[in-house]
Amino acid sequence: MIQIPNTTKNIKEFIFEKNSINSFPSILNSISSKKRLSGRVLILIDDFFMGKKLFKGDNITNEYEIIFIDTEKEPTTDGVDKLLVQYLNKYSIPPEIVVGIGGGSVLDSAKACSNLFNNDGKAEDYQGWDLVKNEGIFKIGIPTISGTGAESSRTCVMINPKNGLKLGMNSNYSIFDFLILDPVISLTVDKNQYFYTGMDSFIHCLESLSGSYRNYFGDTYSEKVIDLCEEIFLSNDMMCLENRSKLMLASYLGGCAIASSLVGLVHPLSAGLSVVLGIHHCEANCLVLNQLDEFYPEYSKKFKRMLDRQGIKLRKNLTDNLNENQFKDLYKFSIMHEKPLKNALGENFKEILTYQKAKEIFTKI
Ligand code: NAD
Ligand code: ZN
Repeated sequence: MIQIPNTTKNIKEFIFEKNSINSFPSILNSISSKKRLSGRVLILIDDFFMGKKLFKGDNITNEYEIIFIDTEKEPTTDGVDKLLVQYLNKYSIPPEIVVGIGGGSVLDSAKACSNLFNNDGKAEDYQGWDLVKNEGIFKIGIPTISGTGAESSRTCVMINPKNGLKLGMNSNYSIFDFLILDPVISLTVDKNQYFYTGMDSFIHCLESLSGSYRNYFGDTYSEKVIDLCEEIFLSNDMMCLENRSKLMLASYLGGCAIASSLVGLVHPLSAGLSVVLGIHHCEANCLVLNQLDEFYPEYSKKFKRMLDRQGIKLRKNLTDNLNENQFKDLYKFSIMHEKPLKNALGENFKEILTYQKAKEIFTKI
């Protein structure tokens, strides 16, 4: 029977409007005065925007510190710990607001920092479900690329380099307090990256709809996201402003969907590729889904149509030179994701996703 989730939480407030980034300073000022916050604001920004005028800093009345984030590699638990040390070495007391401006990597770093400033210990201590004890610092998210749903989800994904665990702080405290959703900002995104990241919302939702852990909330969001993605990625210009707005909506709804459901088979295999070969989340997802006709026949057909329509060529032969130990690592860092694998394949998932089966899939990538 389809169930209703017994707890869920959504974003408290957001603005979704063209050029709303220009209101960032006034939004910041109004939040500070409403909440009587007079402390410093920590702003994390994707380093793509270094030297570019994204908003008018001179209109911000709060004191603020900007840290540019290199997104070449995905966030790690150590990297998040270092951000805190870097900030606290300079100011000794935590900021009162944390802002993340960027894609999933920066948004997740901002969420993780916000939680850690109010919780002792290290980022790795909170990888899992509902481990964060205290509410984090007020957090504002400004996505600059759409698809991951990091802006609305209840997690912030990090790779733990010590044990290869790619997992977030799944917690209601990982939800942003305020979002500025401005589809104009994504104009500068590279075409392939736009496709890969956009597909993340399609993939989250197909995995959720194909799994056994279902509920009306998640399904309703997911079905809408699948429709929106098909409209966008089967159109002639996936990156026109209207489609960028639709994708921003799809990404937001996809994050809500996944907050009350679970991913499936694509994400665990994709995590293996990210941990072992350093392939970014969204490209890795596409590479995996492209080889999963057997598990997701209907959605993989749809995916291939969208790929063709947009003329996106996935990279090939990425696992050609791997040795047996590397294939074993790919399997190890995939099969450890029990929750989504149970959702996709049932309790006996290890009997279906055997080492041989996983190797067969990875070999084709
Ligand atoms: P990203 O943050 O990794 O950035 C990808 C690339 O796009 C970078 O090169 C970045 O500089 C560039 N970019 C971003 N905005 C741009 C702009 N406006 N113009 C030009 N370039 C721009 O991108 P992503 O794909 O959104 O995020 C992937 C990360 O999100 C992974 O770490 C993944 O694990 C995480 N994730 C999180 C969740 C969640 O719910 N928290 C869900 C899925 C994925
Ligand atoms: Zn994802």
